[in-house]
Amino acid sequence: MTPPEAVAEEPYAAAWSAHRGRERTLIIVMFLGLPAAILLSIAVGFLVQATTLESAIPPFVALWGVGVGLAAWRHGSLRCPRCGRPFFRGRFYWNVYAGSCMHCQLPKWSTTP
Ligand SMILES: [Zn+2]
Repeated sequence: MTPPEAVAEEPYAAAWSAHRGRERTLIIVMFLGLPAAILLSIAVGFLVQATTLESAIPPFVALWGVGVGLAAWRHGSLRCPRCGRPFFRGRFYWNVYAGSCMHCQLPKWSTTP
């Protein structure tokens, strides 16, 4: 457990830590999900004795696509720890590579107000 003094010194640390975890999840799903989907397709195709591998791949690749979409949405829906508004989404656009909050300009990864 984090001591109360540390929380007072770095009030945004918990939010950034959660965001870092979401970022890690997105990277893992993106780069390991497709090989896993293909391996699952091969395994299931082997188990059900599919006549062609192509018939087993689409459902798992579609599942991977849905997983990447959900992980990306979760990553991009960060709420700014300072103002509470969507960090990456402005009024008319969305930039997941933004280096600061679209509303209050809090720099990304800043731990102090
Ligand atoms: Zn903000």
